[in-house]
Amino acid sequence: MADGLYDRYMKASRVNAEHQRGCNVCTAETRCTAGTQIFKSFARLQDAYNNRLRQQNQR
Ligand SMILES: [Zn+2]
Repeated sequence: MADGLYDRYMKASRVNAEHQRGCNVCTAETRCTAGTQIFKSFARLQDAYNNRLRQQNQR
């Protein structure tokens, strides 16, 4: 199903992965300030997307 939430989730996932690759501060345990913001919005979208999948499966 193509809609805004999935697109935003995929985009955030890509942005997060690209930041981690390009940043020499961010590791699995540590994140820079920008990396933290990026990761937070990615995690929020991931939660929202997973919650919606779960709700759809309950029907
Ligand atoms: Zn970083």
